[in-house]
Amino acid sequence: MTSDNSSNDKQMKTNDGTTLDIVVDDRDALPHGLVRLRSGVIAVSQLFCPNGHNLISEDSGARFNGYPGISIMVEGTKEKGIVIISPIHGDDTRFGKADFEPGEVTRLTCPECGVDLPMIQPCGCVPDAQLVGLFLDDKRTEGNQVTICNSWGCLRSRITDRFQIISRLD
Ligand SMILES: [Zn+2]
Ligand SMILES: [Zn+2]
Repeated sequence: MTSDNSSNDKQMKTNDGTTLDIVVDDRDALPHGLVRLRSGVIAVSQLFCPNGHNLISEDSGARFNGYPGISIMVEGTKEKGIVIISPIHGDDTRFGKADFEPGEVTRLTCPECGVDLPMIQPCGCVPDAQLVGLFLDDKRTEGNQVTICNSWGCLRSRITDRFQIISRLD
């Protein structure tokens, strides 16, 4: 993860006393509820299914450096259940259902309405793996998205704003 932190230190007026990596640099305005952590990593604070359900819920019970996680229904060949993944890009921490095989291609759906997360492009990590998309705004604007791989354990993902990649993990 790269970012220009050279001039950030003197701008760190939002420091609220915590030493956790959750201190936000609000000088660097990001769209759509994205938050840039002090380390330069981006966290997502809202994320919508194609039908407009926010998959980031305060009541999911799972926290990642204080941020609520992203709840996704994951269906493999034998198992199905809700997985809560970290909203911090690059953090592979997750809770919930976990008995899938590494590399197993799963079906990812909205836990609220069951809609499939739309396929964006093949991932390439294993045959048939696809990057699927969630929307950063409740208008569900194409190109303002988080895309993740539907192959269990693959961390390839992107955050895009108007189709421009603002954070990626390959
Ligand atoms: Zn939904
Ligand atoms: Zn993949």
